[in-house]
Amino acid sequence: MSNLKIRDVRAIITQPPGARTLIVVKVETNEPELHGLGCASFFSRPTAVASAVNDYLTPFLVGKDPADIEDIWQSCNVSAYWRYGPVLNNAISGVDQALWDIKGKVAGMPVYELFGGKSREAAAVYIIPNGRDLVEYEEHIHELQERGFRYFKLGAMHPSSSQERPHQAPVVITKKVSDDRVSIFEPVPYAQDVVAAFEHFRTTFGPTPEILYDLHERMPPIQGLALAKKLEQYRPFFLEDLFAPEDNDYFRLVRQQTSVPIAMGELYSNPQEIVPMIKDRLIDFIRVHISTIGGLTPARKLAALCEAFNVRTAWHGSADVSPVGHAANLMLDMNVWNFGIQEASVYLNTHETLKEVFPGTPELRDGYMWPNGKPGIGVDINEELAARFPAQDIGGAKLWGDARRADGTVIRP
Ligand code: MG
Repeated sequence: MSNLKIRDVRAIITQPPGARTLIVVKVETNEPELHGLGCASFFSRPTAVASAVNDYLTPFLVGKDPADIEDIWQSCNVSAYWRYGPVLNNAISGVDQALWDIKGKVAGMPVYELFGGKSREAAAVYIIPNGRDLVEYEEHIHELQERGFRYFKLGAMHPSSSQERPHQAPVVITKKVSDDRVSIFEPVPYAQDVVAAFEHFRTTFGPTPEILYDLHERMPPIQGLALAKKLEQYRPFFLEDLFAPEDNDYFRLVRQQTSVPIAMGELYSNPQEIVPMIKDRLIDFIRVHISTIGGLTPARKLAALCEAFNVRTAWHGSADVSPVGHAANLMLDMNVWNFGIQEASVYLNTHETLKEVFPGTPELRDGYMWPNGKPGIGVDINEELAARFPAQDIGGAKLWGDARRADGTVIRP
């Protein structure tokens, strides 16, 4: 390894069919065939991440030994003096995962072997079903069940009881949103809809399939607590992001009053924010987006801390994570004892083009995500093909900044 040097580092932005805007970092070495890939996907600020990589990390890294992953992570993390924001963390993650990829390729083994080997054969996944209406939605769940999937995150569409009682929802008076059906959030009708969705799911599909639900941090805390207590009877596998990180201490009340399993962490970018949640046993699943906390290097340490308190992993894995990032999640899923569940997006298996852009994309089969056993992280990129799918939505700023109460108050996720 001693003669190996980083020759170039650059960010690649692409959006193949089915994906959100993806950012992948390629680290090239002075050995022509040896390169690594890492996920830096921050779909709502992609060009900011690309600039952080290309303008700042690349000059800092060229000439360094790619074997020194820990040292490179630590020095990149303080290289801007201010640290732990999502843009810089994603940029560092792209580099960090690429260096693990290179180390695995040099060793001739998958990265989970470098971590200590396999604890399991594959990672059980949960899926977000979809459909244009309730009939299609239920058909999709049946189809997924026939293919072996057992964990379902309800969310994108569920039976909406509020449509049957519009008089109970506040009159929308804000002029700040163009599509009030999509962007208006009111806690009371929302909570009623969620309970109705759980009831409908259990009536339709019985007691066995696992239900997961993402509250997206929007409920006022005391109403969120009441909702969690109501949902306990439906045996959720977990409730995700019941409160915003600003309201972390409210989780103590949930612990005192229910046995609903709690998943938390998608909005965390500084690992220090998470420590009290783990050591005080306020959560059951850690749900961070690995690239948003800075890559595999900090995620391994977080997983080890979680093991000490029997908190299980549930890394973020929606369509805003690149196939490289899904494979990076899988490297830890395969290794850590305290694996809980892996979020997987159907986009990984529904568009053949994706596998051409990202050869080695992990396979979803029988309800599991399977590693391909290749050295490194196991996923490559066809850059020529990726260039044919430029980002369609560089902005993405409207997604959360435009969610409002009926009176116009912005909703804090
Ligand atoms: Mg979430």
